[in-house]
Amino acid sequence: MARVYNFSAGPATLPEPVLKQAASEMLDYQGTGMSVMEMSHRSAAFKGIIETAEADLRELMGIPDNYKVMFLQGGDSLLFATVFMNLAPNKKADYIVTGNWSNKAVKEAEILGDAKVVATSKDKNFSYIPDCSDLDIRDDASYVYICQNETVHGNQFHTLPNTKGHVLVADQSSMFLSEPVDVKQYGCIHAGVQKNVGPAGVQIAIVREDLVPEDMPGVPTMLRFKTHIDKGSLYNTPPCYGIYICGLVFKWIKELGGLEVMKERNVKKATLLYDYLDSSKLFKPTVDPKDRSLMNVDFVTGDDDMDKKFVAEATEAGLSNLKGHRSIGGMRASIYNAMPYEGVQALVEFMDKFEKENA
Ligand SMILES: *Cc1c(COP(=O)(O)O)cnc(C)c1O
Repeated sequence: MARVYNFSAGPATLPEPVLKQAASEMLDYQGTGMSVMEMSHRSAAFKGIIETAEADLRELMGIPDNYKVMFLQGGDSLLFATVFMNLAPNKKADYIVTGNWSNKAVKEAEILGDAKVVATSKDKNFSYIPDCSDLDIRDDASYVYICQNETVHGNQFHTLPNTKGHVLVADQSSMFLSEPVDVKQYGCIHAGVQKNVGPAGVQIAIVREDLVPEDMPGVPTMLRFKTHIDKGSLYNTPPCYGIYICGLVFKWIKELGGLEVMKERNVKKATLLYDYLDSSKLFKPTVDPKDRSLMNVDFVTGDDDMDKKFVAEATEAGLSNLKGHRSIGGMRASIYNAMPYEGVQALVEFMDKFEKENA
């Protein structure tokens, strides 16, 4: 059985060495005589797993001591609500909307309070990042929110917005650990791990401790960040197996040299693909060059039937999940950390061949 090159946006491809290690430890995790799926979350073995995972993540990202790390559940979509509940005590926050996910985040905040869109690229179907150097941010906005890499629309903030001294909150789901970030620039970073880091079912939130409210009257226990921080993400049963896989991925990244090396690899892959797209007569990239995502590469032929034909033939050739998101059509190649350079090379060679055959 051969593995394909899997360009899925998420859940997405994982590093093969990680999958192999997980397989080898499936029946007996390090002499415990049981799988990680079968052990108590209060056991010494699992305590070792979660504590090592957090320590490795802190080391990889250089997370300062005054930031707390949470391993959560409920989908990153739940964080659209809980970020607002926890970090906007005055129920006021400003949002930059650059695609599907930041749009969902602001809609969720609107249910709970006063959320204002201070910039958007909706006018051109989110094909660029708007100028965020001098935004009309409300003085009493609790934070400014961005989705730093829009998974569906394929754009990315390569410089952070000027928040004029306000706290910055970023959804980094589809770029988490893809490049170095300066955690100090943020009040909160959150990410669903199923894009770049692990299996579905785990979200990681990193939050500056002084922003976490002590008391939240009327808010259910599970929705308070403090609950999870105080208990080291073990207030209730966490997604144990997913956290274990994330931990293996952290080790894999560390062994390869950390986030600088991830970025180098990711730039090299994205450059190969975008350079081809820019030279192609058949395929066109959809995002402004300066705002292109290193992770999610969107492109079209401009002809729906041709797009379909391409996706079908690519799948036949072992290049899977290239169909664009249902909301925008076309194609999308997600080239996360675990996608090898050879996978992108194979894709570009196939596209070139397809272009010649369909000229
Ligand atoms: C996938 C994704 C989400 C939502 O994640 P769920 O875990 O499905 O709720 C949020 N933000 C971004 C940027 C995503 O890519």
